[in-house]
Amino acid sequence: MKKIGILGGGQLGRMMALSAREMGYELLTLDPTENAPCAQITDQQIVADFTDVEAAKRLARESDVVTYEFENISHEVAMAIGDKLVHGTELLFQTQHRIREKEMIERNGYQVAPYHAVHTVADLKEASERLGLPFVLKTARFGYDGKGQTVIRTTADLTNAIETFEPTEYVAEKWLPFDQEISVIVTRSERETRVFPVSENIHRDNILHLSIVPPRISSELSQQAIDLATNIAEAVGLIGTLAIELFVVGSEIIVNELAPRPHNSGHYSIDACETSQFEQHIRAICGLPLGDTRLTTPVVMANILGQHVTALSEEQHTLSARTKVHLYGKQEAKTGRKMGHLNILADSVEEALAEVERLQIWKE
Ligand code: ADP
Ligand code: MG
Repeated sequence: MKKIGILGGGQLGRMMALSAREMGYELLTLDPTENAPCAQITDQQIVADFTDVEAAKRLARESDVVTYEFENISHEVAMAIGDKLVHGTELLFQTQHRIREKEMIERNGYQVAPYHAVHTVADLKEASERLGLPFVLKTARFGYDGKGQTVIRTTADLTNAIETFEPTEYVAEKWLPFDQEISVIVTRSERETRVFPVSENIHRDNILHLSIVPPRISSELSQQAIDLATNIAEAVGLIGTLAIELFVVGSEIIVNELAPRPHNSGHYSIDACETSQFEQHIRAICGLPLGDTRLTTPVVMANILGQHVTALSEEQHTLSARTKVHLYGKQEAKTGRKMGHLNILADSVEEALAEVERLQIWKE
């Protein structure tokens, strides 16, 4: 295995490439944007659309193994890459559609929020009767960072959603009054399965803001999440990385969604685990032994979005000696766009959270 092809040139691809670079692999990425974050690290870039089957074939031809940083890959493109896509296409197919994903989770004996498939206005009305208010209407495909989601809290919201209904595939989900959100990242190779420490996640406007590790939950809940991740990874024959977002409701965990790749809530592992999620992913797809995932220090990961960039540059000189800055090399700092993150290492998560409070970066 010498050359790794990465489909998608964003920050996840970039951090995979940084790890693979250290391990001596040659790298090639495919992304429509010239000089994409990942392409700044790889040897070469194929500048092409993600739907370009010929470009995907070239990516496969020129690589020994192909991986991806996002799950919205068409069936045609996946087929064009063929066996070099070591993850296979089954998990991709399930996780790119919220309803298929929920059915898979339920088949494996785990709980999701009560839901109802919505294709028409009649379905939407039926969903509101079955689920009650509030509920959230999500597009079945292509959603991320809360995009494609509408929370329906009142009858006025429902009327509005009915009047502005645009036919496509949706899923309506009961709005869960969760105690916490957590996530767990599992990596599996043909030989073994390893799970990263559970992260507690705080979202702001549906975008991840903080990951807190270790999470402020009971060790029973943590173990439940780890067991769930291991079981699902084995049930689906995972090769590579799978991130699982969960809601904690009382003593239960309910699965929110899956992502078959490294995940924003695992960025803490770069500086706070013996092996990062990116190195682990490369190890898994290249058939190397998986690394130890133990946590080496408490940590809080804080995202830097477009609106935080100026404040970060003003405050950067005051950051604690144990804060690690990661920026993704994106040119344009749009509001809500993920530009980088900080890994704030400390002797306790309380201390790291106090550092988040001290900084003006997220006050806006
Ligand atoms: P995305 O693909 O955009 O990450 P998610 O389904 O994870 O979509 O939703 C984003 C966030 O919105 C979640 O992390 C959570 O904070 C909130 N959310 C989503 N679904 C529900 C729900 N059914 N109940 C309560 N909160 C929800
Ligand atoms: Mg999510």
